[in-house]
Amino acid sequence: MKADAYRFDGKTSCDLSRLPTDAGTEKGKKAEYAEKTAANLKKMESLQEAFYADGREGMVILLQALDAAGKDGTIKHVMGGLNPEGVTVYNFKQPTKTELEHDYLWRVGRCLPPRGGISIFNRSYYEDVLVVQMHQLHKGYRMADRVLQESDREFFEKRYHQICHFEEYLYENSFRVVKIFLHLSKGEQKERFLARIDTPDKNWKFSAADITERARFDEYNQLYQKVINATASEHAPWYVLPADQKWYTRYLVSEIVVEALQKCAPSYPKVTDQVRAEMQRARVQLMAED
Ligand code: AMP
Ligand code: MG
Repeated sequence: MKADAYRFDGKTSCDLSRLPTDAGTEKGKKAEYAEKTAANLKKMESLQEAFYADGREGMVILLQALDAAGKDGTIKHVMGGLNPEGVTVYNFKQPTKTELEHDYLWRVGRCLPPRGGISIFNRSYYEDVLVVQMHQLHKGYRMADRVLQESDREFFEKRYHQICHFEEYLYENSFRVVKIFLHLSKGEQKERFLARIDTPDKNWKFSAADITERARFDEYNQLYQKVINATASEHAPWYVLPADQKWYTRYLVSEIVVEALQKCAPSYPKVTDQVRAEMQRARVQLMAED
């Protein structure tokens, strides 16, 4: 599968500066990839139906990226192919006052799917080692001295471990976590920000804070790299996908979702002899009605 080239499961280390942000040799093949994506969306639909009926595994698909990398559009175009029954999208924004009174995984627990369900996370608990680390937000949290006295390094190393354990815990309880990072170039981010300023229908997406964050573009990528390497595992891999061409990103995401669902090998629950006999009786009854 094409997306395998972008998969990190802890065996090899991820160096973002060497990984592509664009479609490379595939750049001229937009129409071809749009067709492939459409075919994948059909596959996803039938796989998800079996996944839902089967109800033995649950799945979290999370998307992380810098601003304007295309998280929202990917969710709309790729996940839009799934049956809304059995799929829920959650947006992780700045924590509320109540959320900040709890541990950082508290708000995540409520968003986990039942088995048979899929939760899509637009941002996630990874913000708690990304934006929080970048801006040292934890320093302003009300926590015990023993926690706040730790060095930043210790504090976030512990969080990486907690996240790895959390994902392992989910896997051991029959849930899978699929993690996607949309890798965007600084030049393409600039173009997309300009489009938000210049296109009236996109104005609502503009945020002055995004421009401020852009000043830390390289620092963010370094931090992402560190976080990806600290949390990539066989059972909860990261996919680092080129994000400069939306049509290519969407194709890769559709491949990843199809493969993740296939790995669960969903099958419809087997009908027992008793139910089969009941169905036969019901058939006879229905046919006798007129
Ligand atoms: P958006 O995705 O554009 O709606 O923005 C959501 C904002 O919430 C982003 O700037 C995130 O970095 C921020 N955010 C999400 N989770 C956290 C968190 N745990 N702590 C601080 N900021 C967060
Ligand atoms: Mg934003």
